[in-house]
Amino acid sequence: MTNSKQDGDLKDGQVTLSGSCLCGGITFSVSGLLPRLYQCHCSLCRKVSGSASNSAMLVQSDQFEWRSGETLISRFKRDSGFKSHFCKRCGSPMPNAFDGGMWVPAGLLEQNDQLKVAAHLYVQSKATWHEIKSSAKQYTYMPDKPLVDLLQAKNKATD
Ligand SMILES: [Zn+2]
Ligand SMILES: [Zn+2]
Repeated sequence: MTNSKQDGDLKDGQVTLSGSCLCGGITFSVSGLLPRLYQCHCSLCRKVSGSASNSAMLVQSDQFEWRSGETLISRFKRDSGFKSHFCKRCGSPMPNAFDGGMWVPAGLLEQNDQLKVAAHLYVQSKATWHEIKSSAKQYTYMPDKPLVDLLQAKNKATD
């Protein structure tokens, strides 16, 4: 395809992206001016993703909409409060609410050129076999300012 315009494009950099789990039973969408992504390399995020890191987007509640299959969601929470919501049919991690917004696993979303990683978290505890090859900023643990603000601000920057 040449000069292709993303189907979901709205004006002023606003988009609507759909997301789904592996079996397709659960679907949702995120829309608006989307923030940058982060990847967390902590031991919990490695467990819950089964990979080197969790890659996710933090959107405001009004930017998120369930489209189907919410009843397929199972929930697990550690004593510390760290939680995992997942499709009980296929095991894909699922979006879940945090204070003021929704946490959305980036790998569930359809592809879009606007999706970019802005921060690597807990680099201190990354898997020994994983090399971070990315120009995004790396944090030993967490950034000093709230992650949500940092990812939003990065999206407004001109770079
Ligand atoms: Zn599923
Ligand atoms: Zn983590």
